[in-house]
Amino acid sequence: MRKVIKTRWWLMDCSLPQRNWARLRVWNDGTCDLLDSDDRLHPFESEAAAVTFLREDEFVPLDQLLDEVTYNRVGPSPLVPPEPARADCPTCGSSWTEGLYGPECDTCGGGAMDRPCPVCGGICGRVWRRAVMDSQDSGLAHWIGHCGLAARTQG
Ligand SMILES: [Zn+2]
Ligand SMILES: [Zn+2]
Repeated sequence: MRKVIKTRWWLMDCSLPQRNWARLRVWNDGTCDLLDSDDRLHPFESEAAAVTFLREDEFVPLDQLLDEVTYNRVGPSPLVPPEPARADCPTCGSSWTEGLYGPECDTCGGGAMDRPCPVCGGICGRVWRRAVMDSQDSGLAHWIGHCGLAARTQG
């Protein structure tokens, strides 16, 4: 029995924003037909012949267009790596994300995911955030922050 095995929609790229559609159907005997937006049905011997015809008329497959639209909306992926969902101390095994740290451990360095300003011992009231990757890679606590007192004395 003759039946359609694939249907693909095409859109004429240069006709945007007018929509010039074509519907390409592939039959199970390998033949094709193309319904254009004027409701004319064009038979083709093969899908390749129909695709060549469509390409010459600057038609683009709809799924390809959608890929481009999706890409443009999302944009290139940001270069900043996401925060790890979990972070553990590689030296003493404390789970920083659970707020734990080893008091004697250089990698923990006196805090879990954050700690009071290490410059002035917390007098300035600032909290520094752990640089997880740097801490884990170096085995020494790395903190991101600025001492509020130092900023004040600098003017
Ligand atoms: Zn540790
Ligand atoms: Zn400080």
